[in-house]
Amino acid sequence: MNPALPNTTPCIKDMCGSNRKKGGVKVLFCSSEVVPFAKTGGLADVSGALPQALEKEGAEVKVALPGYRSAKAHSPKMGKDIEVYLVQNDKYFDRKELYGTSSGDYPDNLERFAFFCKQTLLLLKEKGFCPDIIHCNDWQSALIPVYLKTNFKDDDFFKKTKVIFTIHNLAYQGVFPQDEFAKTDLDKQLFNMHALEFYGKANLLKGGLVFSRFITTVSPTYAQQIQSVKFGCGLDGVLRKRKKDLSGIINGLDYHIWDPQQDNKIFQKYGRDDLGDKYINKEKLQQELNLPVDRNIPLLGIVTRLASQKGIELIISALNKKMPKLNLQFVLLGTGDEKYHHQLEKIMQRGYKNISISLRFDAVLARKIYAGCDMFLMPSYYEPCGLGQLISLKYGTIPIGRKTGGLADTIIDAQNGFLFEKYSPGEMMRAIMRALKLYENREKWRSLMLKAMDCDFSWEASAKKYIELYGQALKEV
Ligand code: ADP
Repeated sequence: MNPALPNTTPCIKDMCGSNRKKGGVKVLFCSSEVVPFAKTGGLADVSGALPQALEKEGAEVKVALPGYRSAKAHSPKMGKDIEVYLVQNDKYFDRKELYGTSSGDYPDNLERFAFFCKQTLLLLKEKGFCPDIIHCNDWQSALIPVYLKTNFKDDDFFKKTKVIFTIHNLAYQGVFPQDEFAKTDLDKQLFNMHALEFYGKANLLKGGLVFSRFITTVSPTYAQQIQSVKFGCGLDGVLRKRKKDLSGIINGLDYHIWDPQQDNKIFQKYGRDDLGDKYINKEKLQQELNLPVDRNIPLLGIVTRLASQKGIELIISALNKKMPKLNLQFVLLGTGDEKYHHQLEKIMQRGYKNISISLRFDAVLARKIYAGCDMFLMPSYYEPCGLGQLISLKYGTIPIGRKTGGLADTIIDAQNGFLFEKYSPGEMMRAIMRALKLYENREKWRSLMLKAMDCDFSWEASAKKYIELYGQALKEV
């Protein structure tokens, strides 16, 4: 059963140990991107929201990220009372981008993030903040648990500190040539297959997975999937070994930012009690995108990076075959791989009246699509958690997703959305057809919309689970 569905209030005890008052836990949250300081993707949103949710649960939280140029313009505070450590080194971080330019990654990324990890530990000592938990995220902070167990292992300051490591997308691992390993300042013995060596290269993420106390990823299904050869990106063996310490905690959605009742960027605000106003959004969106204005024709939308992970092949195949002939309108907003841009441009040139394709990043149009569409498509090949379906649920826009990762954990077929299993255009179209069939029954569709809007994927529930896990780590001496 999905705990976030309505009418199932999860009962989560504060597990931070009996001698520890609720929230007494001291946490350093460590990430290479944090909203509003620096962002390239979803990690930044999580790192902007989760520390605040942990603080609301009573934890004493500090956040560390590299002192990028973009980060320095902000006050080093978050939430009610979260201090933000910007780890400074202008040689490494005073640059326009976080990881590289359009011509490739910065060549000194290993040095930059090894510095970030080690300097973060030194900064904690300098500030006198001794965390119970260091919560690391993705490969850029993966050397922290490695340093703690090696270079810092005799340092009493960190005697009781435990590391929780969260994988946001296993495909990004921080892999560098062997001859760069010395720059980590780690004993060269660690370049072995049980530690950081990975097919003759240095893999920083692997170090994080081997040396952390607990590993989490951003949905329970993805936590299972990454233990298989198919989704393990070469690290499935390492993850299987750590199986009992690996779990999935679904990401939350910040409902202050994503709420159709408070969204100033959409045409007309609406909620579950004035659902009719959603159709004002639909008609205005049709108008803006030059689609025939008709509130009765089903409107299917997608907002996505154009990357193969997102199932773009399935969409292109459907657009080349059946989709334009159906009695529906389809709206796509996306940007990414050039090859998909070309293929989608070709489809645009055919001038279908019921298809609108916008190839750019547009945060405002994205909101109008979430608000104005009847259905939202996410045919991902893999999806660690996924934000789009959580947003669309809140906006009463029924998600149609592939049963993988976080989509499988948040969409329940025929209860708040539609799921299909096999990664094929035919299966995707069958799920769309099932949705179209139900759409014909207005009463049933309305009740599906209400169920979707009542789902609760707030950060509160996820933060409670992290606090519970921290407690479990701290119970050990
Ligand atoms: P990922 O982080 O893997 O790209 P998610 O579903 O977790 O996928 O989050 C993607 C977020 O980025 C969603 O909020 C989506 O609306 C937004 N987004 C993606 N592409 C665009 C775009 N072209 N314009 C506006 N917003 C976009």
